[in-house]
Amino acid sequence: MAKGGKKSSSLDEVLDGLYRCNKCGFCQTACKVYKSDLNESYAARGRVQLIRGVAEGKIQVDEGFKNAINSCLLCQECAVACPSGVKPHELVLAARRYLKQTEGLPIDKKLILGTLGNPFRRKLAFSTARILREKVANRIGGFDDFKGIDIKGMPIDKTSFIDQVPEISSVQGAKEKVGFFVGCFINHSLSRTGHSIVKVLNANDIDVVVPKKQVCCGTPQNAYGDFESAKKNARKNIEIYEEFDAVITGCSSCGAMLKNEYSHLFADEPDYLPEVEAFGRKVFDFSEYITKKIDLDTRIYKVFNHKVTYHDGCHMSRGLKITKEPRKILKSIPRIEYVELREADRCCGAAGLFQSYFYEIAKDISRQKVKNIEDTGAEIVVTGCPACVHRIQGSLRLAGRDQKVVHLADLLADVYP
Ligand code: SF4
Ligand code: SF4
Repeated sequence: MAKGGKKSSSLDEVLDGLYRCNKCGFCQTACKVYKSDLNESYAARGRVQLIRGVAEGKIQVDEGFKNAINSCLLCQECAVACPSGVKPHELVLAARRYLKQTEGLPIDKKLILGTLGNPFRRKLAFSTARILREKVANRIGGFDDFKGIDIKGMPIDKTSFIDQVPEISSVQGAKEKVGFFVGCFINHSLSRTGHSIVKVLNANDIDVVVPKKQVCCGTPQNAYGDFESAKKNARKNIEIYEEFDAVITGCSSCGAMLKNEYSHLFADEPDYLPEVEAFGRKVFDFSEYITKKIDLDTRIYKVFNHKVTYHDGCHMSRGLKITKEPRKILKSIPRIEYVELREADRCCGAAGLFQSYFYEIAKDISRQKVKNIEDTGAEIVVTGCPACVHRIQGSLRLAGRDQKVVHLADLLADVYP
């Protein structure tokens, strides 16, 4: 029950966090959205106070409130900066759930989330996008980008990764068998990365199973308050990967969802929660799995004579808390020249649908990333998040830069014999 006796469904669950905020404003310096727009309702402090106002029944939900709630990147940078232990991104998620419960999703988001959540519709959407781009946009010209999203340069695979590979990629005398959670981006847009992950694991005597029935991890639905659909997908995935002791993913957003968010989703189901938590414990990001579980023989790597830098995605660094592993892998490659990126763990501006709804702010955030990359002098930017690969590569291309952005697995597969 909210203070003032007004019950406000999902917001009641996060009241503790709302009252913990002492309005100090440390979060302002951390928030890229606030820095770009200088609007107090776009900083964590402002968002938290607005949510509290609605929870207490003192503020009505209006467009201003919805914009404040929907313009959050969920990057978690404010949570790191907050001295009072407030987790504004969790409060924003609760507010989005509240909006979904009280008003439903707007039609455009309903359509997008429904498409991403359904394997058949998703496949159809990616195929349609590819055909439209090839037959229309590329011929007419002038369609280089859509609101700062590089529609021309973004790869879309003709055949999804899951349809390209057998269900089991096995090797003789395998030491272990793992389940590979592919994720939507790798499946439809970066199938090369899927093959790289299988190649490196197979080369280290690990059988890789790609369950054909896997479904979207639920990140987009969870991010926009549709917890019910996210839970439905979570249940399916937990069942599908039940037989494996390790589930590998090459997408940090999927990884953070499978590993951490599933437990939050089922916090109110004590009978099922232990199974969900056990599932979370066996989820590994690719970089984490190969540094912790495989004794990589770096002596067999090919020489890689290039200058590279590394971008930590938000879900990788603050979601999964993985920062050392990818750097360790990169630095182990012979002759590589590794240079650290300024603000390497700051958001690149993608943040799911944020980049299309708040595109001016997203472009501003991406520009800063491009500038920091330029300052390193690196030829190649490595990251472990497929969405960051697209956003950073697109921003570089649209800015006329020729640096390449690759997934860590692709770089490793290239230097691997
Ligand atoms: S840093 Fe934390 S306590 Fe301070 S204003 Fe921001 S959310 Fe509130
Ligand atoms: S999660 Fe990121 S975008 Fe959202 S309030 Fe915090 S710092 Fe700002």
